[in-house]
Amino acid sequence: MFENVVVGAGLAGLVCAINLAREGRDVLVIEREQRIGGSPLYHPSPEGTPIDLEGIKAYTGIDISPAVKKFTSGRAVVYGEVVPADMDAISSYMIERGPRSTSLDSYLYSLALKSGVKFEFGRGCFSPDDFMQLPPDSVVATGLHFEGFDSFLVPYLTSFHYLARKKIEDTDSTHVTIYHDDFTTDYAYTSSINGVLLAHLFQRYPIKKDALKHFQERVYITEGFEFDSWEHFTFPVPAASISNPRIFGGRTILAGTLSGCMEPYMFFGIHGALVSGKIAAIAVSDRGKAHEEFLKATSSFRSAYLLKKALSFVPKGVYGAALKAALRRLPEDERIGRFVKHGMLGWKNCQSVVAKKY
Ligand SMILES: Cc1cc2nc3c(=O)[nH]c(=O)nc-3n(C[C@H](O)[C@H](O)[C@H](O)COP(=O)(O)OP(=O)(O)OC[C@H]3O[C@@H](n4cnc5c(N)ncnc54)[C@H](O)[C@@H]3O)c2cc1C
Repeated sequence: MFENVVVGAGLAGLVCAINLAREGRDVLVIEREQRIGGSPLYHPSPEGTPIDLEGIKAYTGIDISPAVKKFTSGRAVVYGEVVPADMDAISSYMIERGPRSTSLDSYLYSLALKSGVKFEFGRGCFSPDDFMQLPPDSVVATGLHFEGFDSFLVPYLTSFHYLARKKIEDTDSTHVTIYHDDFTTDYAYTSSINGVLLAHLFQRYPIKKDALKHFQERVYITEGFEFDSWEHFTFPVPAASISNPRIFGGRTILAGTLSGCMEPYMFFGIHGALVSGKIAAIAVSDRGKAHEEFLKATSSFRSAYLLKKALSFVPKGVYGAALKAALRRLPEDERIGRFVKHGMLGWKNCQSVVAKKY
């Protein structure tokens, strides 16, 4: 019988499991896929994030620097206008996700094995009954999958995605180009790492076919590449309610995306998943302390939620013109840096938790 069970071998689940095992506990991680690296539908994939490596190391006890790469280039394309970014100024990194040996998932998996964590692959929890069978204080970190949201009655919006990937010869390229345009009310981007090139268009409403065509054209004009085939799929995202961030589902502890840690404007994806994995591990022995840290880490969720709602009433043309005008007023080399510092509320939250630790 294991003392602690973690459901989901993604970023939050692995950070949590490593921390619990290092405390001397017997930890079992159960994972629906047959191997590490999440869903083959969208991994391997390059994911980009501003990250404070020292802060994350001090807070989670895990040095992820061997599994990240500095950006070689970055820019935003705002309604057709290219805005270059000084990536050094915002300490941003590209991270490979998925099953390959070069991914962050594989790196954390190897640390987990070294710490004595046990894994059962090809086993999942899919219904409220499955989750009820777990021992008390189990941690559920099942990411962007519907079953966790439905079982714990976490309100979600369905987000719609078009994604394309291909191999490239330049394995040193780590770029990101972020697109704000009429084709999405969220954003779209292309990115690369370790010879994988990805294009991803998403929004929290169904995407029209001509929007995909528009994005494809914009990518071709700006970057000169095309993709042979596109996958279309949907995810649950925890942006349906202003009070959505939650660390407890009854006697169970929630972590990562399921707990509301979702994306840069609310609580940064990768960064947030790593931080929330540590908070979940704290919750196993001290619910009060973990709850305090969690509230602090997710405190921008409300303002980000309200901002997003307000922006949804602004006509796209007006929004585009205002965004362009605001960017033009800033010195070129500071535009993206200031956007990250002031606009990414979730990223700022993460920092408020990790930065005090070193
Ligand atoms: C295509 C894509 C691109 C992204 N790009 C970025 C980016 O550029 N920057 C960024 O910061 N964030 C990005 N994100 C978001 C980021 O990946 C997530 O925020 C982060 O992975 C959340 O961590 P997690 O631990 O909650 O979930 P995950 O890391 O997704 O892990 C969830 C794990 O649980 C397993 N699982 C799911 N359901 C079950 C079940 N019922 N039973 C057992 N196991 C289960 C899954 O197979 C998976 O291994 C992206 C996400 C996707 C899908």
